[in-house]
Amino acid sequence: MKKWQDKEEFKKIFTEKAHVLWEKELRDLTLNEVYQTIAYMIRDLVSEDWIRTNEVYAEQKAKQVYYFSIEFLLGRLLQSNLIGIGLEDICRQGLEDLGWKLEDVVPQERDPGLGNGGLGRLAACFIDSLAALQLPGHGCSIRYQYGLFNQRIVDGQQVELPDNWLVNGYPWEVKRVDKAVNVRFGGNAYMRPTEDGELECVHENYSSVRAVPYDVPVIGYHNDTVNTLRLWRAEYSREDLYRELTLGDRHRAFRYKNNVQLISRFLYPEDSTEDGRRLRLMQEYFMVSAGLQSIVRHYKRKYKESMYKFDQYIAIHINDTHPALVVPELMRILLDEEGMAWEDAWDITCRTVAYTNHTILPEAMEKWSIPMFQSLLPRIYLIVEEINNRWLKEVRRLYPGDENKARSVAILWDGQVHMAHLSVLGSHSVNGVAEIHSQILKDSTLHQFYTIFPNRFSNKTNGVTHRRWLIEANPQLSDLIDEAIGDEWRLEPSKLIRLKTVSSDSAFLDKLAKVKKARKEILADYIKKEYDTNIAVDSIFDIQIKRIHLYKRQLLNILGILHLYYTLKANPDLRVRPHTFLFGGKAASGYGEAKQTIKLINVVANMINRDKQVNKQLKVLFLENYNVSLGQLLFPAADVSEQISTAGKEASGTGNMKFMMNGAITLGTMDGANVEICREVGMEHCVIFGLRAEEVMNYYMHGGYSSWNMYSSDPRIRQLMNSLVDGSINGEHFGMLYESLLDRNDEFFVLKDFAAYCEAHTEISRRYANQKQWFHSSAINIAHSGYFSSDRTIQQYASDIWRIKPVKV
Ligand SMILES: *Cc1c(COP(=O)(O)O)cnc(C)c1O
Repeated sequence: MKKWQDKEEFKKIFTEKAHVLWEKELRDLTLNEVYQTIAYMIRDLVSEDWIRTNEVYAEQKAKQVYYFSIEFLLGRLLQSNLIGIGLEDICRQGLEDLGWKLEDVVPQERDPGLGNGGLGRLAACFIDSLAALQLPGHGCSIRYQYGLFNQRIVDGQQVELPDNWLVNGYPWEVKRVDKAVNVRFGGNAYMRPTEDGELECVHENYSSVRAVPYDVPVIGYHNDTVNTLRLWRAEYSREDLYRELTLGDRHRAFRYKNNVQLISRFLYPEDSTEDGRRLRLMQEYFMVSAGLQSIVRHYKRKYKESMYKFDQYIAIHINDTHPALVVPELMRILLDEEGMAWEDAWDITCRTVAYTNHTILPEAMEKWSIPMFQSLLPRIYLIVEEINNRWLKEVRRLYPGDENKARSVAILWDGQVHMAHLSVLGSHSVNGVAEIHSQILKDSTLHQFYTIFPNRFSNKTNGVTHRRWLIEANPQLSDLIDEAIGDEWRLEPSKLIRLKTVSSDSAFLDKLAKVKKARKEILADYIKKEYDTNIAVDSIFDIQIKRIHLYKRQLLNILGILHLYYTLKANPDLRVRPHTFLFGGKAASGYGEAKQTIKLINVVANMINRDKQVNKQLKVLFLENYNVSLGQLLFPAADVSEQISTAGKEASGTGNMKFMMNGAITLGTMDGANVEICREVGMEHCVIFGLRAEEVMNYYMHGGYSSWNMYSSDPRIRQLMNSLVDGSINGEHFGMLYESLLDRNDEFFVLKDFAAYCEAHTEISRRYANQKQWFHSSAINIAHSGYFSSDRTIQQYASDIWRIKPVKV
């Protein structure tokens, strides 16, 4: 790559580029135009490497992986790309000469609305790691016009505003009209005999949707690799519209037009209506079919190998079950377009596809009604039916008379298509995302499959990219680490373990404390600016940021705070260590309990923050619109990382890793990757409380827990529960939460774990009182965070599942 040599060259190129792009004087540029100009300059820089990367992969016929995910929660790209190509400083200096600050330009970029939470962020970390490790791997998803929603808090309640993130365009994407493909929906499909006695499929009267790719470069870290994130947008051509008119009438054409426009419009279609669910299924097939067609076309053109060798050159990964239709879609291509025999096609499909399971919550298991599936995807349905028939025949042969076995592994059952079952059956690898989660998959969720295919199952504990979550988000800490152990950790995060050698060194720990304070000040300044409120940087910053969900138990956190408040009110002379509790996270728009939890947090926050008797010691704040960019401000400022899900419910969590990497202490349950975090750092460097997963499971299976008993026996709980419905919290009522906790017997054991949670907080305060000990723990956490780098995770996927190797560009 021919980089900018110095700030003078940056300024020269910037000036030229800005003139061409905007046709105005530099001094008249808006900050947004400055941002876009630099983005286009970076694209110019990497364009050769981007082309070269694909050439080298094709020349060497390197095996490549395609990572299919319905979401990629990328966050901003300007700074991470600058860091990746090593030009952040030159850019900053050049801009300064021209009268701008890089720090003012960066926030001009809007977070892309391409994801909503942990699953999407994992996909983003993974493509970052693939490029950093020079691995041939690409992302595949949808170019949603609108993201989830922008969250505002009005009168304590969540308000959802449209996230029109593309309004000013997106300088990182390149539209590739020449690479468009067609995706078929609807019509009729049936089998008919050919002249030579075989069966062939006829698919007629279908609608054809044009899928147009928008490519985003995925830039490696200090190497020349530039991989691709390919995002598909649905369009229709005039021919498509004409076809609809001739196949039907103007009503059909009108419906078609509307449907096509909807396919890539919203990240999350409302799933409370049949139409919304149908749209989501359209999105899934659209992404899968477009992605696979383009992979196959590229494979045949550039690799010029037989389709019988497809799996030797291509690996396809499905991030949860949303892309599970790759299984029947690849079968369709091999059968209908390549004329393969069923057995060969099935063999190749299973060898190509690998599946990651992300959840064990039963309500999150994806299922589609057969009538909807069949009418929308008639050819795909025939294939799924055949897969299911052959499979059940095999199962009944292996386990004669055992209909329970058949039911528990069927793909079609009870009028539904079971996507997780399709994914396990149609792939050669199934993994969970943390040790405890992978164990639960084998023991219960997918136990029947495990007994049949024990070797198919493995664990790949999640990770996060330290490039974004440490180097970019926390340059102050990164510089301190360099000073202490050198900078090799930036290329190899496992080297962070060297911090153990200084983790008892007073001088180092003092500096670590100063860095934490500096980051708390940066956050405090942001909060002052955005919310016109002061937070005390010498208080403990205790942070819970993640999607709002009953199983994640933000309720436990806020009830703990409310109890602390009551304690302070009842004991006016009591002095506790000052605490700032921060929350952030979106509630799904149809999720009543989650929305009421947000309201409860805000009402309690208001009551506490206005109460002069306690607000020197306690402050509570709900930050609006938690996203990647806000996260980059919050993780570095945290003292305490709240990871308090009901044990056995959080598959892994990745927020926990971002906190740890930034020196926060985990206050958590034995759930997801918390288990591994506390194993790595040792029990004395995290605070663990509450029921274990086995105990939770036991209560579910055998009963023995009554939340009303907790209400009767624990006066603290009685007071808290009463306050939810008697108006004592600012006159507000929280009936839905009260019902969930008491009348529906507290499915997530909030009350059961309450006492242990309070004690865990006492332990945190006790430890924080000894600052040297606290920052020793903080250093130990950073030192062990190398294991939770997505580079480690991706290396495991690459060697154990995908069998791909680095390619030097
Ligand atoms: C990391 C991350 C998540 C996932 O957080 P968990 O605590 O693992 O649920 C969600 N949203 C954003 C914006 C993130 O950065």
